[in-house]
Amino acid sequence: MQQLFISKLFKSEISQSIQDPHILRVRLLLAIGICVPILLGCAWSAYYALQTKWLLMACNLTQVALALLGMTLFNAGRDRLAAIWMAHGLFIIIATICLLDAPVDGVVRSVHMYFLPLAAGTSLVFRKDHVYLRVMLPFIMLAGCMIFGSSHMGVTRPDLIADSNIRVWGVWINYLSALGVLGVALVVMQTDLTIRHSLDAEMREALAKGHFCLHYQPQVDAQGHIFGAEALLRWQHPVRGMIPPGVFIAAAEETGLILPIGAWVLKEACAHLVALAQDPQTAHLTIAVNVSASQLRQPDFVQEVMEIVTRSQADPARLKLELTESMLAKDVDVTIQKMHALREFGINWSLDDFGTGYSSLQYLKHLPFDQLKIDQSFVRDLLTNESDKAIVETLVSLSKNLQMVLIAEGVETKEQLDYLFNKGCTKYQGYLFSRPLPIEGFEHFLATFPDSSASSELQAHTR
Ligand code: C2E
Ligand code: MG
Ligand code: MG
Repeated sequence: MQQLFISKLFKSEISQSIQDPHILRVRLLLAIGICVPILLGCAWSAYYALQTKWLLMACNLTQVALALLGMTLFNAGRDRLAAIWMAHGLFIIIATICLLDAPVDGVVRSVHMYFLPLAAGTSLVFRKDHVYLRVMLPFIMLAGCMIFGSSHMGVTRPDLIADSNIRVWGVWINYLSALGVLGVALVVMQTDLTIRHSLDAEMREALAKGHFCLHYQPQVDAQGHIFGAEALLRWQHPVRGMIPPGVFIAAAEETGLILPIGAWVLKEACAHLVALAQDPQTAHLTIAVNVSASQLRQPDFVQEVMEIVTRSQADPARLKLELTESMLAKDVDVTIQKMHALREFGINWSLDDFGTGYSSLQYLKHLPFDQLKIDQSFVRDLLTNESDKAIVETLVSLSKNLQMVLIAEGVETKEQLDYLFNKGCTKYQGYLFSRPLPIEGFEHFLATFPDSSASSELQAHTR
């Protein structure tokens, strides 16, 4: 089970964040960091094979093999793993080839120049990662460049190293390709920085001018009743149109703007709850609100949420806050306290994207969650993927044991619905019932849902 979670973690890494433009730039840089070593490695190993310089050929072939493995990981969507593999592998290969590129016969060393684009790329690719990958590794690479650039250390045996005439050309090739890739890395980094700054300014303006809005995605039970909705943030950009949260939430988290945005979302959702409470037909509905990691980490999070709910006069029992597993990795004790405080106040907790993290099982029983949401990556291939079937079955029994409500998100087909129902999952959210709707569309949906085909399907189950 644990292994299934781990394999899913890497698998879903891309799909979750594919909309984030920063991720797309990171992928571009990673693709360059994989293709350039393959091309250069193939060319040099062919040349050294002709020259019968077997050690140099072997080093270049190792580089190609390393990059091909990196490409396999990259194609499988395991970006972070591919990046870690390439950063460390290339560092070792470059250092090894540097030893075979010692200055002799007036020809300078040049292979160490590849440390520069490697350091720049590593620093950008791991910009949001922990300190070793983000800071220490690029520094080690720069130190490598300095040490090899300023010393004569290395092998000088003529049968092991390249001939001087080709090494003169090698210097040009290495400088041009290393500096070329460095230039591309710097342009990508600069673009990343500029876009982040302008995105931040635009988001501030959007918040001030009321360009954010909430869409509501209905949640349905096996009896065909709507029991609630998830509030999903949208940015109605005056030029670019409707922007989904995947594009801007990560940037808002980084700049801290997620705090006022998150407070706005909560106020808006509470106001909607109050409106729903006016009508006996809709008074029972719950609204789920996504909470970000930085919101949860705020020391006054509990107080702020209580204040917003109290001021709005919404019933806290109708409000559900959604956390993801990754947010529980840090400061678990403080998180538990905050969750309990809000639970006592009446608010319910839901664990979003359940199954995409891998250490949750240990502390799940200590956290006051009322609901588990099966991540949509498990639902997507449910009918064809045996491990997804096993995970869903395990989650059904896990939720029963922990006495938590289980809801499947991303339900798109009747076949998925049938499978989930037959396995004992009786709450659903997904395009099969409705896409997230603006408030008017949601109200219309509430009024007409019993007539929809998805609803009849559910009613057929319970007859
Ligand atoms: P989430 O909370 O897991 O929300 C579910 C996402 O899956 C939504 O994407 C929803 O539109 C999408 N979805 C629902 N049913 C289906 C389906 O059947 N098929 C497919 N392919 N997708 C489906 P959305 O609206 O783009 O939101 C993405 C993520 O952005 C959310 O994932 C949530 O983590 C975050 N988010 C959204 N609103 C907020 C917010 O107000 N605050 C914070 N902090 N995060 C938010
Ligand atoms: Mg959610
Ligand atoms: Mg989710």
